[in-house]
Amino acid sequence: MRTIIEPFKIKMVEPIQMTTREQRQAIMVKAGYNPFLIPAEDVLIDLLTDSGTSAMSAEQWAAMMRGDESYAGARSFTRFETVVKSLTGLRHIIPTHQGRAAERILFSVIGGPGKVIPSNTHFDTTRANIEHGGAEAIDLIDPRNTDPTFRAPFKGNMDVPALERLIEEVGRDNVPLVMMTITNNATGGQPVSMANLKAVRAVCDRYGLPMFIDAARFAENAWFIQQREEGFKDKSLRQIAHEIFAMANGVTMSAKKDALVNIGGFLALDDDDLAMQCRSVLILTEGFPTYGGLAGRDLEAIAQGLEEILDPDYMRYRIRSVEFLGEKLIEAGVPIFEPPGGHAIYIDAKRFLPHIPAEQFPGQALMAALYLEGGVRSCEIGSVMFGRYDAEGRFHGAPNELVRLAIPRRVYTQSHIEYLIEVVIEVFQNRAQIRGLKFAYEAPVLRHFMSTFTPV
Ligand SMILES: *Cc1c(COP(=O)(O)O)cnc(C)c1O
Repeated sequence: MRTIIEPFKIKMVEPIQMTTREQRQAIMVKAGYNPFLIPAEDVLIDLLTDSGTSAMSAEQWAAMMRGDESYAGARSFTRFETVVKSLTGLRHIIPTHQGRAAERILFSVIGGPGKVIPSNTHFDTTRANIEHGGAEAIDLIDPRNTDPTFRAPFKGNMDVPALERLIEEVGRDNVPLVMMTITNNATGGQPVSMANLKAVRAVCDRYGLPMFIDAARFAENAWFIQQREEGFKDKSLRQIAHEIFAMANGVTMSAKKDALVNIGGFLALDDDDLAMQCRSVLILTEGFPTYGGLAGRDLEAIAQGLEEILDPDYMRYRIRSVEFLGEKLIEAGVPIFEPPGGHAIYIDAKRFLPHIPAEQFPGQALMAALYLEGGVRSCEIGSVMFGRYDAEGRFHGAPNELVRLAIPRRVYTQSHIEYLIEVVIEVFQNRAQIRGLKFAYEAPVLRHFMSTFTPV
């Protein structure tokens, strides 16, 4: 088989900043060992997130120039609505400025105290919006699937028997909907199988509950179904996406992922009453229903991006470059969350740095080492983000200590990935010298964004 290449050529370039190790050391100290506080221009390869960091295509930029900025009934809304309707098959298409705005609107209408919202795993903004309204967000994932060493094709799946038990326990009237997050971002970017979606749909049918899809990475999930699940090899990504959305009563979407844009999102619904209520909140907090917190040009870019994301050549390159990174790290003995997910590689810092205990934040220490070694910015998903104190003030580490290398879409080339592999392996070879961190300032909420650290 020939090398799988980037299915695009480069028309515009953005220089990236080379720095010396001494400079990076000073930058890291100034940022308090917090990657969110490093100026982006001091980063060589930025893998903090794949959200809103995509490179847009010539067609997307051209579409932006055609943006119709009329307040109401803009042509750009019609194009956006047509594309999202034909993709999802849903009747009500509500644009929002991000995925979390769709979540806030939805859960402010159907959530509230006493309500329980199950998911395979809620993304953190989804959980926060559900809890903000007083409802309870519950993750129902087989614990084996959160073990980084367990290999299975669809580790994003919902634990279906657990879903049935939950509905029986809390009563169907307290469950306004069941949410499926595809791919499962909080669990290593792992995909959900069509069989699992169907099984969840069947449970929803039995109890008369709506099924919603958090579709941030629906196209990457469709690729995994095509490649890994029996009976989908000859179906196109679009056909698979249609089959997924045909099961849904509603969709929330962060367009900053699989719509290949820098900002945007939407809420799509089949229920007329619910759509009317959501539009009322939209007008109050986002904007008129034909722009919803976005410019006409943003709607155009999303519509175009949703077409491009289903191109099989794009998706083959996308998934293969992430998988290639994963394979090379595994070959070198670097422990990662297996198998490689769709949008990121998660290094297992617990096994990478066994000499650093949870209370000294091995993931954060590894993030810092990667930056110092090669100017690579990553993100800790471990005890900084999810560690908790109990009633006696004792610290409890997160179940996993991961460092996420999130790959922006269409931004970096093969040689960037090769360089990244070299940096990670070099850090791995010198891992015994890496020291843990302690808080210099501990932010009271959303610790990972604002806290600062010093080496122990
Ligand atoms: C990013 C993301 C969201 C939130 O979307 P924003 O556009 O960042 O507000 C929701 N769900 C998943 C799975 C995501 O990855």
